[in-house]
Amino acid sequence: MTQTSCTNDWFGRGSSDSSSKNAATAENAAAGKVKTSTGKSDDDNSGSAANAGSASTDSDKESVSASATSQSSALLAFLRENSPSKTIKKKNGVDYVTNTDSPLILVNKKRELASTYVPHDLVKAKVAFSFSGDSPKQQMRKVAAEALEKLFAGAEKDGIELKAVSGYRSYVSQHAVFNNYVKKNGEQEANTFSAHPGQSEHQTGLAMDVSSASAGYDLTTDFGDTKEGKWLKEHAADYGFIIRYELGKEEETGYMYEPWHIRYVGVFIAQDIKKRGDTLEAYLAQF
Ligand SMILES: [Zn+2]
Repeated sequence: MTQTSCTNDWFGRGSSDSSSKNAATAENAAAGKVKTSTGKSDDDNSGSAANAGSASTDSDKESVSASATSQSSALLAFLRENSPSKTIKKKNGVDYVTNTDSPLILVNKKRELASTYVPHDLVKAKVAFSFSGDSPKQQMRKVAAEALEKLFAGAEKDGIELKAVSGYRSYVSQHAVFNNYVKKNGEQEANTFSAHPGQSEHQTGLAMDVSSASAGYDLTTDFGDTKEGKWLKEHAADYGFIIRYELGKEEETGYMYEPWHIRYVGVFIAQDIKKRGDTLEAYLAQF
């Protein structure tokens, strides 16, 4: 489903296809695309408030308010559908996530993706990369790639030069990455900063590692102290991204501080998470 700016139709109706509609609604809300509008004659349900009013100005107000209420209830329904407790299925002793196509998918050391999972809408993000040539790691899911392009453009406007380092990673390449770290650092240490195959957020296509010339395009905590890293922390949410592995949240996320790793969740939810100072784990568990 693609996003449209006309979302009136999605509000106030008991939908049988609630998952994708709520996702689209929440995404539109997140992207600030939801436009409240007065009930039109072809919109049977939303017209009730509008029709009840005698003066057009009153009916406009009522319809707008009804639409806003429906918007927040759609968002709440979307969050509840993506609750960690409702999006997990055990198979052969492993907990697999079930909402694989959702922008709110939660993947971590306790919640895995199948080895066969590949996002269906991977595209190459049109941003500057820290390396030349084509690579699968330039890809993200479409919605995330487009948001990343806006983020990079916003950074450039502010005189900040970011470069993307690594986005989508398949199960197979994560396997290779993790094994390399195990050889170099030992398994215990590798576990603190690298993911077992199936447990990497990079396999979702919603994450990107970002760095800057000032950090030598490295993925190190030093990036967080650069002006580019600070800009990213301050502005990522405005484009729908969160700093996924925050300082002091290692117990909740299972990973050390990674100021370079951003994860797409949508603007509204990213801003809400930032405001609350929650991890994605804690945020989603509330619903
Ligand atoms: Zn990363």
